[in-house]
Amino acid sequence: MKMNRNIHTFIGCESEYQESKIVIFGAPFDGTTSYRPGTRFASSAMRNESFGIETYSPYLDKDLTDISVYDGGDLELAFGNTEGALGRIEEYTAKVIGDGKIPCMIGGEHLVTLGAVRAIVKRYPDLHIIHFDAHADLRDDYLGEKFSHSTVIRRCHDLLGDGKIFQFGIRSGDREEFYWGKNRVYTNKFNFNGIKEVVQSIGSHPVYLTIDLDVLDPSCFPGTGTPEAGGVDFKELLFAIGEASTLNIVGFDVNELSPIYDQSGTSTALACKVLRELLLQIHK
Ligand code: MN
Ligand code: MN
Repeated sequence: MKMNRNIHTFIGCESEYQESKIVIFGAPFDGTTSYRPGTRFASSAMRNESFGIETYSPYLDKDLTDISVYDGGDLELAFGNTEGALGRIEEYTAKVIGDGKIPCMIGGEHLVTLGAVRAIVKRYPDLHIIHFDAHADLRDDYLGEKFSHSTVIRRCHDLLGDGKIFQFGIRSGDREEFYWGKNRVYTNKFNFNGIKEVVQSIGSHPVYLTIDLDVLDPSCFPGTGTPEAGGVDFKELLFAIGEASTLNIVGFDVNELSPIYDQSGTSTALACKVLRELLLQIHK
């Protein structure tokens, strides 16, 4: 009998770093969450629950064991120190893209996206962002704070400029956010209509895909800090991921799963399935 050390990866993602094309890492930070914290537990919960899903995707006829994904575990992030956490995420992401790999971050609250985007835009100044979310996240500040999960896409816009951010599924925000976003950010409210045209218009430009899982309806995804009625279902999200994944994806994340708000575990299981499909679609 061969004795193996306990390894704790997302299911089917046991490749070594050197040989891997995609690098998973967790960013368990929820320090600026405005309503209900708990996303810090998402990455560890997803690794545990991932053993409840299959590595094989009947949608794609592809299997996680056929591709090379490294799971680097979770970053150690200090909860009270937002800039420190963003700095660690930026540093890790820079290392991964510097090694020619695609970073796949599991949040954490949505602000963690800013750390990854800071690193990636330095290497790809022409970066575009595709953003799935219930919330516009375009506030300039939240209760006076510039860095919050409700300002994250505005801070990304500070780095990218006009015409490079494309949002889908948005159904919440204050009037000022929506007005500010006009002519600066492409916002498709409520669903994924228009995504084919957007994908065509982006062409071969480098893209960061950020998926705030609260884009899903709370009826299928209650496990999140800021649930917002009127969302998309899993099949619609899967379709949108399929469209977005045809682009030149240089980094991506899933965020805002808060496992403790769904005692049934369904939200975590759904998040695992989303991640499996993302990995299989983006690994080319
Ligand atoms: Mn968000
Ligand atoms: Mn959201």
